[in-house]
Amino acid sequence: MSDKKIPYKMYLTEEELPKFWYNVKAHMNSGHAPFINPATQLPCTEKDLQKVFCDECIEQELNDTDELIKIPEGILDFYKMFRPSPLVRAYFLERLLNTPAEIYYKFEGNNTSGSHKLNSAAAQAYYAKKQGLKELTTETGAGQWGTALSMAASFYGLKLTVYMVKVSAEQKPHRREVIRTYGADVIPSPSDTTDAGRKILAEFPGTGGSLGCAIAEAVEKAVNTPNCKYVLGSVLDHVLLHQSVIGQECKIAFEKYGIAPDVIIGCCGGGSNFGGLIAPFMGEKLQGKNNIEFIGVEPASCPTLTRGKFAYDFCDSAKTTPMAKMYTLGCGFMPSPNHAGGLRYHGMSPVVSQLYHDGHIRAVAVEQSAVFEAAVKFAKCEGILPAPESSHAIKAAIDEALECKRTGEKKRILFGLTGTGYFDLSAYKQYNDGAMTDYIPTEADLKRGFDSIPKCKVNEGLA
Ligand SMILES: *Cc1c(COP(=O)(O)O)cnc(C)c1O
Repeated sequence: MSDKKIPYKMYLTEEELPKFWYNVKAHMNSGHAPFINPATQLPCTEKDLQKVFCDECIEQELNDTDELIKIPEGILDFYKMFRPSPLVRAYFLERLLNTPAEIYYKFEGNNTSGSHKLNSAAAQAYYAKKQGLKELTTETGAGQWGTALSMAASFYGLKLTVYMVKVSAEQKPHRREVIRTYGADVIPSPSDTTDAGRKILAEFPGTGGSLGCAIAEAVEKAVNTPNCKYVLGSVLDHVLLHQSVIGQECKIAFEKYGIAPDVIIGCCGGGSNFGGLIAPFMGEKLQGKNNIEFIGVEPASCPTLTRGKFAYDFCDSAKTTPMAKMYTLGCGFMPSPNHAGGLRYHGMSPVVSQLYHDGHIRAVAVEQSAVFEAAVKFAKCEGILPAPESSHAIKAAIDEALECKRTGEKKRILFGLTGTGYFDLSAYKQYNDGAMTDYIPTEADLKRGFDSIPKCKVNEGLA
């Protein structure tokens, strides 16, 4: 089909919405290494996981065999409110770059929560309700996950408590207000409502809090409340599965117009949007049906894939979760305080980590001032103010398109535009004021993080 026929927006109708999530693990030889119970050093059993997660999510977490998993009607109903998300041919960006490449982006920021996180929030709240739970708890740093879960909890009639990192609650009062409007309790963390919070407050009075502490508070509250579970917004396999709705929609739309991408690019925090975007395309690549190049983009200041170790580590800095085999900078790694661009998680989804380890994914690290430069370029020519996280993918897509200009190659580039930047204006202010700096961790900085990787039996022989 001639490219003249590709419209600016490649719409899908409601009938064309995907009915299935795509489980890429069905095509990975042996999935990935199992979660380990830190107490026993043995693989986690379903029972271990049941203390923390909903039954249906555990089943999905452990499913290494079914390629397609049906999206229940009750979730499709919610998805219909904000999906399909737009798949856009970035004609204006192509013109600006004067590149022979075609650039496409999938925009997940068109819902009130402002990001792709609602895709998994909807599913996790639905399953919690189905299981008869009454309450959920979670933590939120920047606020996107807390907002998404508050919308989903409200839709399915669940009570929700969000432990929001204190500095973030103070810096982003509007985010906090959206969450409260959807009926959730927002508790700035550390708080005096949990033992974990009280302990931190006694030790570090006046602290602005951390994600690790907020997680510890949310887990404690869930464990001590009947009919209540703690939920996570990234990293885990079932979250990636829910996010595969992004890749499924892209695939259906591309097929509708008779074309296919050559390169797929996504930003990587915990890996959920990238894993979901690439899922159905990667599944086909693993079966030898395409030769797409997959590129994960991370901040140079939190370089999990490009400089991390492939080891067993905790998913949180409070060391309360099971251990996952993943690329990690160490659960004690702290990105530099001048890092404003998000994606500051120390680890990476075990699925994305395994695919990267096996050479199916390329990773690049980019510096934040270049990321914001790309963000502003994109905002001006495509009319969307992008989230700083998403802008890592924009930066890599622009670089790829400029490389095509050099070589004359006419590649089709697809990238994930995960969210809007409306709640990140303090980061934009820093950039506009010329106050943004880049920081690349030294080997010594990284070593401090690596030292927090558990020295246990399953990590024996780790260099
Ligand atoms: C949370 C978030 C990310 C990173 O999370 P992943 O799990 O890696 O997808 C990226 N972009 C936006 C807008 C986010 O809110």
